[in-house]
Amino acid sequence: MIEEIIPNIYRTEIPLPKSPLKWLNSYIIRGDNRFMIIDTGFNREECLNEMNANLKKLGVDLNKTDIFLTHLHADHTGLAGILATATSKIYFNEIERDLIKFDSQSNNWQKMLAIYAANGFPYDGARQALGSHPARRYSNDRPIEYSIIRDGDSIDIGDFHFRCISTPGHSPGHMCLYEPIQKILVAGDLILFDITPNIAFWLEMDDALGTYLASLEKVNALETKIVLTGHRRLVHNHRLRIKELQEHHQQRLNEVLVALKEGEKNVLQITPLIHWDIDAKSWEAFPPLQKWFAFGEALAHVRYLEIRGKIKRITRDGKITYSLT
Ligand SMILES: [Zn+2]
Repeated sequence: MIEEIIPNIYRTEIPLPKSPLKWLNSYIIRGDNRFMIIDTGFNREECLNEMNANLKKLGVDLNKTDIFLTHLHADHTGLAGILATATSKIYFNEIERDLIKFDSQSNNWQKMLAIYAANGFPYDGARQALGSHPARRYSNDRPIEYSIIRDGDSIDIGDFHFRCISTPGHSPGHMCLYEPIQKILVAGDLILFDITPNIAFWLEMDDALGTYLASLEKVNALETKIVLTGHRRLVHNHRLRIKELQEHHQQRLNEVLVALKEGEKNVLQITPLIHWDIDAKSWEAFPPLQKWFAFGEALAHVRYLEIRGKIKRITRDGKITYSLT
């Protein structure tokens, strides 16, 4: 699937089998004798085949191609090592360069498991979830020399003069691109249409939700004509969508407060009381990986309220519960 959305910017759909995200929007930009690919799809055959077919149709020469990665998730970065050639620059943010290798992360994953366990997440469930986690199964597996980009850096390709905009929250180093002349925002997973970006628990971000909401405000100040999202449909009115996303998180925060009105609870008891957009009849019916994601999202919301003094943490024998202040 290829669609020319703006002259010389092509949207392609890379299938994400078994993921509720359904597909990744990978963008291919044609410059003067050079191309740039924005985000790649998983490191798995279905993604590579579709990517290669699209590159062929567009006549892309990988020896004249650079790659921009919005953030570390495997659906965005998995194929980077395979597609890159000796002359490719792979633009990536500094924080996530050091986080992206799943195995080098084992210490971090152990710390995460300990925090999840203290908050009530069962060890068996964590093991099942991590077994099917895309970071473990579909990440890039080749060594990559990244070209590190920072907030405010520019990337020029053909008629486009992009500025890098640091937008952490969905991930610690998430980076958008903004083209001020044509008012194009490459949003990665900061703003999505008809699904809401997952806000997870991160060791690297003490307040992931607060950080995410601040990034939305930052982008809200930009004038845009079109927003190129990482998944699903594109967004044409980013301010309206940002407002909806802000309201969505406000609602979830309220649900946490309502859950705690009945008394002290741990995060595992709070999570099923939050409304989740998922095809599952009950919390028990959530697939293990979706339980893991929902629990992480609940943790981020609980932490947001704790930092702002709305709820307080109670620790007994290493087990954490929360109550209203
Ligand atoms: Zn993502």
